Amino acid sequence: MNENTLFECDKSNIANTYARYGVAFVGGKGSTLIDINGKEYIDCATGIGVNAFGVNDEAWKNAVINQINQIQHVCNLYYSKPQAELAKLLCEKTNAKKIFFANSGAEANECAIKTARKYSSSRYGEQRYEIITLKNSFHGRTMATLTATGQPNFHKHFNPFLQGFKYAEATMDGIWKQYTDKTCAVMMELIQGESGVNALDKEFVKQVEKFCKERDILLIIDEVQTGNGRTGYLYAYQGFDISPDIVTTAKGLGNGLPIGACMMFEKCENTLTYGDHGSTFGGNPVACAGAISVIERLNDHLLLEVQGKGAYLKAHIERIKNVKSVSGMGLMIGIETDKNAKEIAEQCLKRGLVVLTAHQKVRLLPPLIINKTEMDVAIRILNEVIGQ
Ligand SMILES: *Cc1c(COP(=O)(O)O)cnc(C)c1O
Repeated sequence: MNENTLFECDKSNIANTYARYGVAFVGGKGSTLIDINGKEYIDCATGIGVNAFGVNDEAWKNAVINQINQIQHVCNLYYSKPQAELAKLLCEKTNAKKIFFANSGAEANECAIKTARKYSSSRYGEQRYEIITLKNSFHGRTMATLTATGQPNFHKHFNPFLQGFKYAEATMDGIWKQYTDKTCAVMMELIQGESGVNALDKEFVKQVEKFCKERDILLIIDEVQTGNGRTGYLYAYQGFDISPDIVTTAKGLGNGLPIGACMMFEKCENTLTYGDHGSTFGGNPVACAGAISVIERLNDHLLLEVQGKGAYLKAHIERIKNVKSVSGMGLMIGIETDKNAKEIAEQCLKRGLVVLTAHQKVRLLPPLIINKTEMDVAIRILNEVIGQ
């Protein structure tokens, strides 16, 4: 199949839910991707923050292939070693007490929503089910997580949406306005990814934590995108110096295989009990074996490197003409310009650089292992495209 026949085959058989760029990636190594015509690209997208250790990573491949050679799936009626080991690792590296494994970010958030509702309803009655999320948030595409997403644009076509979600401005005043005696949780991204790589104010986050603690409201941090080393912390909440009750993650955790995790901390570790939740594929042993090789390598040394690389990129991108601001943390970077972000992304692709957009911004989520030479190529191409 050549490029054109692939595009045609896709267009006539795949649901029209994606506006694809005209590129088909077929391989690569590390931070380099190769398309169907053999052209090479520097990858600053990692399949939306997924391929954290790049493409064709040896350690991850070995872990995955080794597991495939043993058994590819164990349903959750039985014990599975990779799942237990990954959960142990995650609990050790955070203060989480229990992990529920799902297959995606949205599913991890579904589990968080169910946990928060059960936690509150079993203590304070069935009426305490409201969850406050933030305006401009993004929490996923399932009905519950779509409702949780605080952007009116997403709340079309699919009525009725779920009850019990309220959208607050990212200020204490905003939280107070949405708070009622029905509130059971506050759910937020610490750096809003999809809507423009905007970090929340640290002081605000601390205040929300206090607000929640005082009222026995669960604090849910959605780290589907910010998690797994992306921000230069294993989980971004560790850089915000807070103790959440639930942390959800996905994207980078599997380095390309579908996996999501809902990490429950002390307060709600025993909230979900037998029969409350489940998944056929959740915690798949192959995905878990790969994730173990990801989490094991995200040590302090690598996390410091991520912080350093983020600072390097930020400093150089800020100097590019027409760049108005650079936001984000670690290797999660948003670039504000006067130009159309989608057009910038198209121009970058032509020159061999893969970038993402986030609303009006250009978004960079390079592999955590990107090196200086590769970053310099990315900076040069961004300079050519944005700086003109
Ligand atoms: C991507 C994302 C999700 C949804 O994850 P899926 O794996 O696509 O379901 C949820 N929350 C945040 C913050 C995300 O970036």
